[in-house]
Amino acid sequence: MPRKKQSLVLKNWGYLVLVAAIVFWAVNDIGPGTALIAFLFTSVWLLTLAPVWCGATTRTGDGCRKNSYGLLGGCSYRQHR
Ligand SMILES: [Zn+2]
Repeated sequence: MPRKKQSLVLKNWGYLVLVAAIVFWAVNDIGPGTALIAFLFTSVWLLTLAPVWCGATTRTGDGCRKNSYGLLGGCSYRQHR
């Protein structure tokens, strides 16, 4: 199913950028600027789009395990943002 594969790539492109950043870092020929930009993209992705758990502390003291996107976002509960 190519459609599903594409969405998986769309969800996880940040990991690819992270790998690319490490490669750029290792290959000094490209220069530190490119690696820096790649790392910048990765951090933006982590903060906004990365598939992570909500992680907000609930009233029972546990971490919220609902899925959310990005470290800055929360799950569907407004209080968790
Ligand atoms: Zn939550």
